[in-house]
Amino acid sequence: MGKQPTNKNKGNIVGLFLMVLAAVITIIIAFPVTDGVRKYIKDNTKYIAGTYSVAEKGFGGNVRATVVVGDNGIENISFAGKSETPDIGGAAIQKLNDQMKENLDTEFDSVSGATITSSGLKHALKKALLKAQGKEVKGERKPQSADIVVIGAGGAGMSAAIEAAQKGATNVVILEKMPITGGNSVRATGGLNASETQYQKRDGIEDSNELFYQDTMKGGKNLNDPELVRTLVENSAAAVDWVNSIGGDLSVVGQFGGASVKRIHRPSDTSAVGPMLVKTLNAKLDELGIPVLLETKATKIFADKDGKITGVEAEDENGVFVINTKAVVLATGGFGANSQMVAKYAPQLDGFITTNHVGATGDGIEMATELGAGLTDIEQIQTHPTVNPDTATMYTEGVRGNGAILVNDDGKRFVNELDTRDVVSAAIMAQPNGESWLVFDTAVRESLSAIEKYINEGIIVEANSIEELAQKTGVNEANLVATMQEYAAMQAVGKDSEFGRKSMEVPLTKPPYFAGKAKPAVHHTMGGVKINKETQVLKEDGSVIPGFFAAGEVVGGVHGANRLGGNAVTDIVVFGRIAGDSANKYVLDNGGNTERTITAQTEDANFVAKDIKTKLKDGSYKGSAKGFGGDIEVTFTVKKGIVNDLEISGPKETTEIGGKAINKIKKGMQKSGKFEVDNVSGASVTSKGIKDAINNAKAQ
Ligand code: ADP
Repeated sequence: MGKQPTNKNKGNIVGLFLMVLAAVITIIIAFPVTDGVRKYIKDNTKYIAGTYSVAEKGFGGNVRATVVVGDNGIENISFAGKSETPDIGGAAIQKLNDQMKENLDTEFDSVSGATITSSGLKHALKKALLKAQGKEVKGERKPQSADIVVIGAGGAGMSAAIEAAQKGATNVVILEKMPITGGNSVRATGGLNASETQYQKRDGIEDSNELFYQDTMKGGKNLNDPELVRTLVENSAAAVDWVNSIGGDLSVVGQFGGASVKRIHRPSDTSAVGPMLVKTLNAKLDELGIPVLLETKATKIFADKDGKITGVEAEDENGVFVINTKAVVLATGGFGANSQMVAKYAPQLDGFITTNHVGATGDGIEMATELGAGLTDIEQIQTHPTVNPDTATMYTEGVRGNGAILVNDDGKRFVNELDTRDVVSAAIMAQPNGESWLVFDTAVRESLSAIEKYINEGIIVEANSIEELAQKTGVNEANLVATMQEYAAMQAVGKDSEFGRKSMEVPLTKPPYFAGKAKPAVHHTMGGVKINKETQVLKEDGSVIPGFFAAGEVVGGVHGANRLGGNAVTDIVVFGRIAGDSANKYVLDNGGNTERTITAQTEDANFVAKDIKTKLKDGSYKGSAKGFGGDIEVTFTVKKGIVNDLEISGPKETTEIGGKAINKIKKGMQKSGKFEVDNVSGASVTSKGIKDAINNAKAQ
């Protein structure tokens, strides 16, 4: 007997049919397919429109998952990982991104061979999805907030923060990835170029803004952005006054390469401008109570759907956190210490050494371009002609300016030593070994205090005669003797008939004689983020990114194809201040100032290191040595080969800078139990000072 469908069965079949239909409709609604590609995910989960980006630890660095939610639900999921190895982690990220484009999904399988990268991405995506649902992510640090976040505590960033506060901003915070402030700025040796200052007038020097403008454009081979150069020169005199008004010293005016008149403003003791400036800015930040979060690296800048800045993601020793903010001042400096980036934009400089501090890695360029910022002159990289190849110490141009010459291994001059940096650099690179010797005498040594530093560093060969100098350096002796005689003869008549050098200060005949090995190194990355004269960051098409400002070496267009010595310090102060002013105005137009809630973690000034082993005999010890900006003193007692009371005191102005480094060193020794100073990256002067002070400590 054949089975007859009953009414009941009929009902079941209809029900089943309806259920399948409903499921199909749901699938179609949830996963719309256009040209075979799923465009968005809409399931029962409620997502809030916005962009959610979370970083997690990957293999070689952080990996990141970004979820974009639009009106239709999740519209995009993408992955990134900057330090991942290109062949393993990088390939996995690429694969997953392609996969998501093919089939958008909130889950994915680990890529084989890249388990750490995959697992980091899974965690990151999970958290990003939770955030997209407005849910709390377990263990995540609460977002902080500020009105203005300045990224980078170099000359530009610190000037910006101070100016903003002077104009009334109440909630400014600075993020600095290194353990100290100062970046490349602290290494600036020359001075600050400015026209029409009271100091020039005092010395009877006529220097119009127009002349300064012309010199800068000529120096930059007219590649410079005229509007930015006008702004630079017109605000330069005020920059000198401003630095002096906050406690700096820029009251001596001197001559420098590429300037038609005396224009470079320097400290009255002829010391390098960088340390003076950074010390002054640090002290002012302290006075204004502006928090500087050291060892805090900005990793991403957030913008909303309309492109307006909303926050910054940063990383410190406790992990990743977000600072919501109205305005960002990008002051991360250049990328001279990122050899990959240098080689990418200027292949001819592949393998060059650099004069830059280790933090000059171009982070700002990356963060800005992610937001669509345009770049200007990015391939324009300045090399400094005279850098010691072994220690990367830069011999300031003043050495040549005050009389030194350059010779090759053959003992011959090969260039007008006072020509522009690019010409001198190229001439050295054209020598058989791409190196040269900077040769000078005692008269030059006595004219410039910077030379003592090079001598103390042990990078200068000293000899009582030219013959001995040739022997010690391995330079052709007969030729060097002849070169020096010819030079003295030309100096006597004031005409360099060989290379047309205009100023020959001294005959180079006063023994003892000196020579330092010199070759060009990457010095300044002149290109960078595109800005207008208000320092607003611009997209490629010239439109403004609201709330986004940039100043200093991260910016392009000010120096064109060749930066004149003394113009970088003008750049950081002038545009740093404008950025601070512009950011403050922007905050006032966008909700106004709020009260500061972020505080910098201050170091425990009374930290005393314990349990350190030493071979020193029992007794109380005291030692001192030069640190950054003053003397460092160490005291400790040894009892049965153990130190339990190590104290290190630094100069007052270094509480912010050296203070952190000092504590790091003390804590490092306590942890290892060894009486050995680990160099704190970025605080090498302080580190060396402590090392020296310990080494020369004497029993009392
Ligand atoms: P400038 O004064 O022209 O801005 P500097 O090199 O003097 O240039 O200063 C830039 C500062 O920015 C340095 O102290 C550097 O360590 C810091 N910096 C660079 N990248 C980051 C980052 N991602 N987060 C925080 N600080 C950064």
